[in-house]
Amino acid sequence: MLELRNIDTHYGNIQALRDVSLTINEGEIVSLIGANGAGKSTTLMSICGGVPVTRGEILFEGKPVHTMKADRIVRLGINQVPEGRLIFSDMTVMENLDLGAFLRDDKDGIKRDLDYVFSLFPILAERRRQLGGTLSGGEQQMLAISRALMARPRLLLLDEPSLGLAPIIITQIFQIIEKVNQDGVTVFLVEQNANQALKIADRAYVMETGRITMSGTGTSLLADDNVKKAYLGM
Ligand code: ATP
Repeated sequence: MLELRNIDTHYGNIQALRDVSLTINEGEIVSLIGANGAGKSTTLMSICGGVPVTRGEILFEGKPVHTMKADRIVRLGINQVPEGRLIFSDMTVMENLDLGAFLRDDKDGIKRDLDYVFSLFPILAERRRQLGGTLSGGEQQMLAISRALMARPRLLLLDEPSLGLAPIIITQIFQIIEKVNQDGVTVFLVEQNANQALKIADRAYVMETGRITMSGTGTSLLADDNVKKAYLGM
């Protein structure tokens, strides 16, 4: 479904990604783990047009997306939940969700997807008139995921959905990610929480200082001694 071929990405003179290649097959959950500053967010932003790619190519269903603008990439079926959630604090839950669907005009489909996200997160239905900024951290993450789903992506990119959340909420968020995947959305998950990210992943990649250094099934990486030492605190 998505293929990164030998990607380099720079911020000015600083090279953040070096020769990154990875694939995501339709229906999979693929995780990218790595330490702070390894280049995980940059990888995700390179896919959705947030930072320019300086070498290599990114193909989505065979189409080159590394030269496309972000809104065109969303229309093709890729959407992201950015790190830090970035919901609109001064807008209500409902207004945030409406914004997620702003590129669509299929009213019936939008209504169906609204019902769907409210079924995933009933608390958001209860709080639909509440301002985004007054939600708890966990609820804001739920809203950020829901807003991304309102664009009806076929590939959902998630940047550190567990960041700053209590363990019980993290468990709930990961369960929902699995449910969304079972409902037909392919998932690319960027996480520092390696344990959770590998547990739900069909396959995963490890990134160190801008390069992919390991890859394998979630299960095989969870059992790998180097991964255990470096990322699982064992
Ligand atoms: P984190 O988990 O902290 O978000 P990460 O693995 O997602 O880390 P990136 O945010 O992709 O890492 O950062 C990769 C490298 O690029 C880091 O060295 C970082 O300092 C640098 N970087 C990121 N954003 C910028 C920017 N806007 N300008 C300059 N350098 C940047």
